[in-house]
Amino acid sequence: MAYDLDIEQENKEIVRQYRHLLRSAKPILKQGDTRIIKQAFHTALEAHKEMRRKSGEPYIFHPIAVAQICVEEIGLGTTSIVAALLHDVVEDTDTTLEDIERSFGKKVARIIDGLTKISGGFEFGTSQQAENFRKIVFTLSEDVRVILVKLADRLHNMRTMESMPRHKQLKISSETIYMYAPLAHRLGLYSIKTELEDLYLRYTDPETYKEIEEKIRQSEPERKRFIRNFIKPIQEQLKDRYFEFTIKGRTKSIYSIWNKMKKQEVPFEQVYDLFAIRIIINSSPENEKSLSWQVYSIVTDYYMPNPDRLRDWISTPKANGYESLHTTVMGEEGRWVEVQIRTNRMDDIAEKGYAAHWKYKDHKPEDKDAGVGESGLDAWIERVRDLLHHNKQEPTSAEEFVDEFRSNFYDEEIFVFTPKGEMRVLPQGATAIDFAFDIHTQIGLHCLGAKVNHQLVPVTHKLKNGDQVEIITSNKQAPKEAWANKVVTSKARRRIREYLNEGRRHVVAKGQELVERKFQQMDLKWSSATAKKLVVHFGLRDREELLFDIGKGVIPLKSLEVMQSQDFNQQIEDIQANLPNSDELKTQVKELNKSALMIGDNDEVDYSLATCCNPIPGDDVFGYVTLDGGVKVHRTTCPNATEMLSNHGYRVVKAHWREHIRDAFLTTVRLVGTDRKGLVLDIAKVMTEELDINIRGMKVDTKNDLIEDYLTFHVTDTEHLQTVMNALRNISEVISVERSEP
Ligand code: MN
Repeated sequence: MAYDLDIEQENKEIVRQYRHLLRSAKPILKQGDTRIIKQAFHTALEAHKEMRRKSGEPYIFHPIAVAQICVEEIGLGTTSIVAALLHDVVEDTDTTLEDIERSFGKKVARIIDGLTKISGGFEFGTSQQAENFRKIVFTLSEDVRVILVKLADRLHNMRTMESMPRHKQLKISSETIYMYAPLAHRLGLYSIKTELEDLYLRYTDPETYKEIEEKIRQSEPERKRFIRNFIKPIQEQLKDRYFEFTIKGRTKSIYSIWNKMKKQEVPFEQVYDLFAIRIIINSSPENEKSLSWQVYSIVTDYYMPNPDRLRDWISTPKANGYESLHTTVMGEEGRWVEVQIRTNRMDDIAEKGYAAHWKYKDHKPEDKDAGVGESGLDAWIERVRDLLHHNKQEPTSAEEFVDEFRSNFYDEEIFVFTPKGEMRVLPQGATAIDFAFDIHTQIGLHCLGAKVNHQLVPVTHKLKNGDQVEIITSNKQAPKEAWANKVVTSKARRRIREYLNEGRRHVVAKGQELVERKFQQMDLKWSSATAKKLVVHFGLRDREELLFDIGKGVIPLKSLEVMQSQDFNQQIEDIQANLPNSDELKTQVKELNKSALMIGDNDEVDYSLATCCNPIPGDDVFGYVTLDGGVKVHRTTCPNATEMLSNHGYRVVKAHWREHIRDAFLTTVRLVGTDRKGLVLDIAKVMTEELDINIRGMKVDTKNDLIEDYLTFHVTDTEHLQTVMNALRNISEVISVERSEP
């Protein structure tokens, strides 16, 4: 009996939620829409009738909820509602895509197809994840609604993960923070992005989450009082001038507070910009800008603005469509307060992003196939298509693709200008080279220098918002090896690599020819064994580098005659015997000093020092729990740190050095100097005699007139290392000394 009663209750609840969905959608429904939504609902209900979610509730609650998010929180229309209701039908039940197409048409079927393709979960760092992400991006470029429904699906899953096993929660959370939250941000879905981030923290670090939540709650009365006093004069002024407006005090999200605490290494109490004041005004389209500036003028009549913190995203909206006027002003008690000024329309777009644009457009998204609209986003999606197009022509691995996509499409943009005042949007960190390639490939390939705001700068100069850039070209100029690391846009990187590879291939081929001829002359056999010996002799990386250097003339052919000498083979053996091999170095690093560090507050934790960044005492470090349960200690400046800290925050533990460590740590420096007689000897002398340091490894390379020397030795801490580096810098003809990886 009780069971029957449950079913009855459940059915009532299903109908109730379905009606709620219809009511929310009502304002956007056209003739006939209700019928097709109803049909989709019944199809889903029938298909999922035997299924329940992990929580025990009937499965149909999930697609209804996803459809509800699509309507209420993203502002999507009928096609998306239908797709949301049916989104799990093809994957989880016997219904086929053909069935869907027959009953609901091509558009819906294509969206469901996209959703089904990307439905496989993906684990961070696996190629399967990367592969899936590539699919997501692909569907994004075909029909943005696939991603929007997918985001709604992900949001509902994140909201209802309570009854999932812990490892699944962590997995889903980490892919959410790695891929979906940035995607939501990029599409301008601000509230969804924020909620996804908060949920991520709630699942991955529940304690911290609760702590911050509690502190926000505790400080609320004080904050409210402050905000009330702050806005009072502004409210009065706005009323006097007949503005229609609302003012909100918005607290930062828990996740972004946590991020601030981490980045600035401060406790909650010292995060000063906990909240922002938002003034939203009613305005006709043509008065938006002038009214916003009038409000700005009123605000700054009462409070002193910080001129460095004025952001005018009304004149130049962000690429994700965000429009608003931001200023930071000095409030009471010497507190800086951020004030955001915007109209109702801008606010709507800021919260709902992409889909909200349509409300303010003449055409509706459902009328257009791909549903692509607003200019900034249009341009962005155009760039996504461009990347996909090139990816098709020259396929890279899925992992590379994800990296490229993330670095090109998730970062914040900067706006720069051509000499004629035309605006160009580039990712943050872009250099003059990126700009040159953005203008035209030929300009990029021949850029010699740049004038930024009329000042001459090198091509590797990093551009800032608002810079005006003029590129100086020369037909003699060509891309350099080093450029590849100085660009951030995929277009520039691709073109530079193409050029370099092409050039490199020629040189290597020429080197091969020269070497074969020379060997014939010497009456010796050119084989991979001899190549190996020469690689050792010249201290190179591999055979290709050898041929390249020969082709370039860096290694003169005459010097190959060394092979004819009697003791050449013996020499090679000697060098090889003395070469510190990298495995040996790694074990030494690992073995060293098991007790120099404290992991968390625990004395007894086993750890090892990461070989990717070789921390030494004095370095800022953190511990990272590896898959086998051990702790690896990395420098916070380690090239892998960002990825670990941002994607696997839950695996990061505190680590700090104990005082008074006597032991020695292996470290490597790279020294560059002019190639003069006796320099290496002088280095060795300074190290052993002056500094009393035992050199554990030395790799010397000479190119042109320069000498490059990698020195590996023991130091006790960063201070000690500084002393050594300073002494080395004082040797005559030494150009630079810097810390390096072994
Ligand atoms: Mn789903």
